[in-house]
Amino acid sequence: MKFNTKAIHGGQQHEPTTGSVMTPIFQTSTYVQQSPGKHKGYEYSRSENPTRDALEKACASIENGNYGFAFSSGMAATDCVMRLFNPGDEIIAGEHIYGGSYRMFTQLFEKYGLKFTFVNMNDTRSLIDAITEKTKLIWLETPTNPLLKIVDIQVITSIAKKNNILTAIDNTFATPYNQRPLEMGADIVMHSVTKYLGGHSDIVMGALIVNNEKLANDLHFIQFAAGAIAGPMDCFLALRGIKTLALRMQRHNENGITVAHFLNKHPKVETVYYPGLQSHENHEIAKRQMKGYGGVVSFKLKNKTQEATFRMLENFKVITLAESLGGVESLVNHPVTMTHASVPVQERERLGITVSLIRLSVGIEDVEDLIEDIDHALEFI
Ligand SMILES: *Cc1c(COP(=O)(O)O)cnc(C)c1O
Repeated sequence: MKFNTKAIHGGQQHEPTTGSVMTPIFQTSTYVQQSPGKHKGYEYSRSENPTRDALEKACASIENGNYGFAFSSGMAATDCVMRLFNPGDEIIAGEHIYGGSYRMFTQLFEKYGLKFTFVNMNDTRSLIDAITEKTKLIWLETPTNPLLKIVDIQVITSIAKKNNILTAIDNTFATPYNQRPLEMGADIVMHSVTKYLGGHSDIVMGALIVNNEKLANDLHFIQFAAGAIAGPMDCFLALRGIKTLALRMQRHNENGITVAHFLNKHPKVETVYYPGLQSHENHEIAKRQMKGYGGVVSFKLKNKTQEATFRMLENFKVITLAESLGGVESLVNHPVTMTHASVPVQERERLGITVSLIRLSVGIEDVEDLIEDIDHALEFI
């Protein structure tokens, strides 16, 4: 089956009792047993729920993986991966990762004895230098948040495999429509389903997808034992979102590149960060490993003051100033004071996340309206 068909049918069956074409919302915590231990495969909804099963299979199907797991948030999915490891184990993470992942690694898991090293994933020398006998996992994002840096997934997974290390990719920004890391040798794919998979800014959810059976059993055990599962109503909404993922991503890709080109030519804009631009430092890698470049476009203003940046942010009419991304509606975000506020100032500056940086999540509206809105807001600088 090809991608568009999988997005609609992947892992789903018509409901057997009634023939309901859509997977119902099985809003139940428990299931009848005929005799102790004799049941239809469902005992208690923390371990299994039919709506969640359907969504987990759909996620696995679109990432071309064997097993999927759905969690109450993207962070809960990441937390599940971290619980695979033991005190003393080492994890190498990309230096450009979601602020909340950085916060979880350094503020929650370091105190349980996991050691995190943050490296520039495009500098293979420093990645190789960071590997020790205790390294168990490489964790990265591509494209990264908020500067849209691109990492060559195949280069990383081949280094990892040589050293018997797992690779986990946060595929939230790309989505499986644009990029499928398992096909490039990754072991674990993580999603904030909150973003493009859900697609409508109405749920908070996370997912993991893997191929290996032992890894799947371990993750399922942690999901069940720790309990941060996605609820049935949210799973229904995510399933509904995934059905239009391919169509939405086509439009996000088109609008993303159009907005990037517009900003790139604007005299008040200093730099545009978008992997689809030929001027992007890793455009060639992006072209090779991605089908399209997505809807997130970041840029820095020539006027570097926070006041000017805020004036722009206060003057959008169609685009909404809010955290998050990946919904059908366009959002704009100020990383320094919003999504990346938990990253220490010096670290932020070193990474290039400065006060004049703005991140747009370009939605699927008519792009002419978005460009008019951006052009108008730029007049206030
Ligand atoms: C939003 C996001 C997360 C966290 O997901 P939640 O659903 O908010 O818990 C992780 N990684 C990336 C890249 C994100 O954008």
